[in-house]
Amino acid sequence: MTPESTLRADIVEVGRRMYARGYTASNDGNISVRLGSDRLVMTPKSVCKGFMTPDMMCITDLDGKKLQGDRDPSSEMLMHREVYRQRPDVQAVVHAHPPTATGFAVAGIPLDRAVLAEVIATLGSIPIAEYATPSTRELPDAVRKYIKAHDGMLLANHGALTVGADLYAAYYKMETIEHFAKISLVARLLGGENLISRDEVLRLQELRGTYGIKAPAPICADPSTANCQVVQAPSSAGARLVPNVVRQAGESGADERIRLTYRELSALIEDAIRNVR
Ligand SMILES: [Zn+2]
Repeated sequence: MTPESTLRADIVEVGRRMYARGYTASNDGNISVRLGSDRLVMTPKSVCKGFMTPDMMCITDLDGKKLQGDRDPSSEMLMHREVYRQRPDVQAVVHAHPPTATGFAVAGIPLDRAVLAEVIATLGSIPIAEYATPSTRELPDAVRKYIKAHDGMLLANHGALTVGADLYAAYYKMETIEHFAKISLVARLLGGENLISRDEVLRLQELRGTYGIKAPAPICADPSTANCQVVQAPSSAGARLVPNVVRQAGESGADERIRLTYRELSALIEDAIRNVR
């Protein structure tokens, strides 16, 4: 068992890194770690994660009831509790509001396209848990739907949640999600992502075993299977990359777009105004 003093110090360090990287502002975010088999070390309510000290932490039981500490546990204690209930393998939970990933969560766009080989091999897909009022019982309900099959998810109009076999593993997944979100945003600004083909995704999934990566659930060909991750990866005959083909609902493809010069557009507008009169 990792000593309590080490876990307290690790939480302080991870909080400092999250704040320094802009993943949290003000008192946002929360962190917890299992302490042995029946307790948790958790960040307290209403403190900036960038300026915590080891003595600020709360010790709770697995129901989130405070056993020790001057401060009360995080207001998102219920969400952390739910994760530990659903995932006996999880040792640590990290919640933050990294701005680019949270932008995707606000826009309702999951990070589920097969784009980066290393993300496929580690996190797989990053879905969006339905909107829930923060710090209420709604949030654990929203998270429950995805947590068995995913180590990282976006929270609609809120932020992101990651879990891991230790605190640094959970924190690095938060870094990966934000990094992936930034790359996806840039690729979309540049015209859209080429996608990794379905066959290549299955090959990458096999590499998980080779490299000893413990993923929570397999990427399945049939998305209706329970406890599966769903990744958008088109089939292709032999090619490992498929040109930007996946579109958001309502988004038209390049070949369906109408291109007009400024002069043509002005003429059309003038014509329309004339008709209105
Ligand atoms: Zn939050």
